[in-house]
Amino acid sequence: MVPPAPVYSLNYQDSYPCPACRQGRITPMTLMDAFGCNTCRHLFTANLESQVLLMADSSVPRLWRWTGEYWRGGTQSQPIFTPLLIWGGVGFVILPPLLVGLTAYIFPLLPDDPLNWLPFAWTGLTFVVHLSIVVGLVLDYYQPVFFTIWLQRWSTSRNQ
Ligand SMILES: [Zn+2]
Repeated sequence: MVPPAPVYSLNYQDSYPCPACRQGRITPMTLMDAFGCNTCRHLFTANLESQVLLMADSSVPRLWRWTGEYWRGGTQSQPIFTPLLIWGGVGFVILPPLLVGLTAYIFPLLPDDPLNWLPFAWTGLTFVVHLSIVVGLVLDYYQPVFFTIWLQRWSTSRNQ
C-alpha cells in the first residue's frame, strides 16, 4: 500500500506547528539548518530525507516524523523509564541519606555538644540534594514547556 502523498514536505523554507508545545510555530532560522519555535524557544534540526525533526537543545533526544499534515511521535523508540532506572533513582535518593543518618545514629555526638543538630541537618540536606537531582532529570525529560509558556505569558502581562 502506497502512503498518501504529503500535503507539503518538511523543508527549510516553510513554517510548521511546533511539535513540542503545540501552541507556537517553528520557523527556519537565518543562515542555519535549524528551526526555532516562537513560543517555547526550542531549537530543532531536521533530516529532510526522512522527514524527521529532532529537538536539538534537549539532553534527551526527542524526534517527530512529519506526515505532511501533522507531527507523529515525540517520544523515544525505547521507553526511558525502565524498572532498573526507576529503582536506581529511588536508591539514589534513599541510600545516601540512609548511610549518613545511620552513621549519625551509630556514632552519636555527646548530648551537650553544640553541633548536635549537624548530623540530622546533614541527613536532611543529603536527601533534599539527591531528590532535587532526580526531579531535575525527570523534568528535563518531560520538558516543562507549559511552565515556560506560562512564565512567558506572566512576564508579558507584567510588562504591559
Ligand atoms: Zn514550541
